[in-house]
Amino acid sequence: MWRNLSILHRYVVFLFGFASIAAASAFAGEPGEALIEHVCNGGAVRCGTPSVVQSPLLGVEQRPVLPLVKRSPSGRFDVHYARSGDDATVETAVDSALSILDRMWELQIDQMGYRPPPPDQDGVIDVYMKNLRLFYGMTVPEQPGGRGVASYMVIENDFQEPVFLTKGLDALRVTLAHEFFHVIQFGYRYAPLQIGRYEWSSVWMEDVAFDDINDYHYYLSTYFQDPQEPLLRENGSREYATALFLFMLDQLHGPDLVRQAWERFESRPGNLLEYFLLEAVENGDNLENIASTWFAWSLFTGLRSVPGFGWEEAAWYPMIELPTLSPGGQYSAEAGYWGMVAARTEPFAGEIEVSLYDSTEALPAAAVEDGGEVQFGPLRQGREWYGANAFIGAVSFQRVGAKTMVFNLDEFSVLPSDFIISSVWPNPFNERVQWEVTVVEGGKLRFFLYDVLGREVFFHRYVVPAGRHTFFWDGRLQDGRPGPSGVYILRVMSPDSQAAHRLVKLR
Ligand SMILES: [Zn+2]
Repeated sequence: MWRNLSILHRYVVFLFGFASIAAASAFAGEPGEALIEHVCNGGAVRCGTPSVVQSPLLGVEQRPVLPLVKRSPSGRFDVHYARSGDDATVETAVDSALSILDRMWELQIDQMGYRPPPPDQDGVIDVYMKNLRLFYGMTVPEQPGGRGVASYMVIENDFQEPVFLTKGLDALRVTLAHEFFHVIQFGYRYAPLQIGRYEWSSVWMEDVAFDDINDYHYYLSTYFQDPQEPLLRENGSREYATALFLFMLDQLHGPDLVRQAWERFESRPGNLLEYFLLEAVENGDNLENIASTWFAWSLFTGLRSVPGFGWEEAAWYPMIELPTLSPGGQYSAEAGYWGMVAARTEPFAGEIEVSLYDSTEALPAAAVEDGGEVQFGPLRQGREWYGANAFIGAVSFQRVGAKTMVFNLDEFSVLPSDFIISSVWPNPFNERVQWEVTVVEGGKLRFFLYDVLGREVFFHRYVVPAGRHTFFWDGRLQDGRPGPSGVYILRVMSPDSQAAHRLVKLR
């Protein structure tokens, strides 16, 4: 039941239905692998807590020993530190940590209503500032199981090494927001198999507490590069990207959803994702809508983003690359999990087509509106999964159950015919931004950089063979001087087409 109208660009997208979530945790990766992956990416690991909970020493390990200690103004936190040696910390960083910790208590407990964590032996929560080298921080529970578990935090002493993509005070802020939330979480329940959802929660808290810092942006490409992977797949970096699922539920249903799910989790062990979903469903949502919203938000990021739709910071997120689907071609992904495969189809013809179907026939639920508006969903819930196969045209797109949003995909030239830019990372960037260009046929590529006023500040030309190529820009202008902080537009041109991407340079 395809409907063809007229079109410029056409995508095909498969949505995978919702089924046995619990089985997905079996796919958690090895912590060692995760570490290697991160090191290869050139960045430190956001959080060592998942490694900590896998450690056989948990519960018997000694706390770090540091010579000095200072108490926070509220009396609730002790920061342990050293003034010299490998772990040396400057006094001002200690004072900053103490005041951030007191603010985190006010935010997370007094304002957001989370339960104060259970006291350790002296009733003061401890933070140890050590040279962790590869980790921003970690939270160590003092017992390896059960409810009401007390814990302490170990955080990096100075966040200055090159592996820390977010540095100094900003790194200290998001790390303490993240790790203190782990302390609260272990106070509810310690359940190592759910650790990926602990990470989701703490990444989400980073953004609640410090909306402007955005360290989590560095991890997002691990989702946008492989959106077809199961939502609950964990490998030490992916769970920091799929935290966007919780960002979405917060935006749809408010931040209390997260706390209520944790309270449910405290009274009954189980799957935290199911509890997040249960709260949304009790708030009037349904799984079909949540799945299709996740899909739609995931597609409209970066240059495809539309103000007012999707994640608040969607314009800064990486984009899902849409490879070309050959006629009659098939995609497969693991059934039973939320994941999605996106592709574009050739030739470009028709405006919008949408269908939902199982293995045999189109379902009557397929929603296609005249005038080029598409409704996603519903997906059927149950043991079987159904793909939603949507061709999104150049005109518009409507989400079920919400006001109509109009997307003008053409405006952005997101899908030039002979090359695709993807994986622009990190963005915003500090010293260097890189991107990949997949070229269908070899030939000339020209790169232009414009500043926010539209002035050309950089130009380079390459002749490249077909395939995938990585390019980078070190933030310098044509004359070699470092460019000022701000927004730049990267424009890539081949003889036949062009595409643009927004880059943001921070000092
Ligand atoms: Zn964490």
